[in-house]
Amino acid sequence: MPNAKCQIRSRHKREVGSRALEAAVLALGVLLAPGCPRAEAPALVRVQDLRKVMGTYMAITVYARDEAAGHRAIAAAFARVEELEAALSNYRPESDVSKLNRAAGGPPMAIGRDLWLCLRRSIEGGAMTDGAFDVTIGPLIILWKAAWKGGHLPTGAEIAAARALVDYRAVRLDPDGQHAQLPRPGMRLDLGGNGKGFVVDQVVAVLRSLGIEAALVAAAGDIYALGAPPGRPGWTIGVRDPNRARGPLVDPLDMPILARPIVLRDRAISTSGDYEQYGVIEGRRYSHIIDPRTGQPVAHMASVTVVAPDATTSDTLDTALTVLGPQAAIEFAAKHPGIEVMVFHEKDGKLEVLRSPGFDKLEAKEANP
Ligand code: ADP
Ligand code: MG
Repeated sequence: MPNAKCQIRSRHKREVGSRALEAAVLALGVLLAPGCPRAEAPALVRVQDLRKVMGTYMAITVYARDEAAGHRAIAAAFARVEELEAALSNYRPESDVSKLNRAAGGPPMAIGRDLWLCLRRSIEGGAMTDGAFDVTIGPLIILWKAAWKGGHLPTGAEIAAARALVDYRAVRLDPDGQHAQLPRPGMRLDLGGNGKGFVVDQVVAVLRSLGIEAALVAAAGDIYALGAPPGRPGWTIGVRDPNRARGPLVDPLDMPILARPIVLRDRAISTSGDYEQYGVIEGRRYSHIIDPRTGQPVAHMASVTVVAPDATTSDTLDTALTVLGPQAAIEFAAKHPGIEVMVFHEKDGKLEVLRSPGFDKLEAKEANP
């Protein structure tokens, strides 16, 4: 008999049916299989909402002492998302990041705390991955997006010119926490590789500050599992199976996820898959992740899933480890405690899966129903 508190209550206008929620999140990469409490649970109410933000869906599930408290926490969380999007979106001309991009080549500029902190994490991400993650990838992204649109490959000279502008080490962040500078004209920040993870972490901070101890925050494939649902060891999360995701996806509820979900508590997981976003030129598929060292889109990586202590890190690394390749990704996990990796890559026309030893330990005891 399922616990009634596990049902998503449709009488609340903002809530959506569980199938719709799962469909939306699934369509973007990850199935949430939250699981209901089995044992006698404390009197906590589960409240859930899904909204379109940052060009994708964000689903927030919280356990709160009552429904009103749950809704208040979720409303505060989405208000924070709006604030962050207004500062960090490349698609908003008045965002701090857009203004800083326009000011490239000029003197240091005043920026808000959110962009400053996000840039600091981005620069750390560059250093941690020897530049495989590069927040100044913008000029190459613009070049390749134009190539996909126009249907022809960029020239070597165009790639070299864009590459010359890509270098996260050139970004100047003032220790005052309020100023930044892109010293070369034409430099351009792109927070697409870790911005969603950063936002997820900020949302978790808001929920924590409001006394929420168990929540799942998912911005498409970037997820943080705070605490655990009552009576459970953690949140159960299904990772999409790129073998099945590569074919035509008629119905996202077809459950194209791996047989065994994983269980997370106070950790983040991010997945970057080439089935989500890619360009096609002359019938060949090109990844939306670019290797800053060559200026070329990454080939042969189907998906990279990273578990990390926070979502900024997991989102940074799903992008960076896609660049570095399958073996390097596994070696990276071995060298960095708290990081686990699962990689699907193309080998002899098939997808091969590699997992760091610790990834297996995260698996749920039971297979998906
Ligand atoms: P998503 O989950 O939205 O697919 P990812 O985490 O997979 O995002 O990151 C892909 C995005 O990262 C690209 O769309 C681009 O904006 C940006 N990007 C691409 N290559 C790099 C790179 N080498 N370093 C940093 N960001 C990158
Ligand atoms: Mg990423």
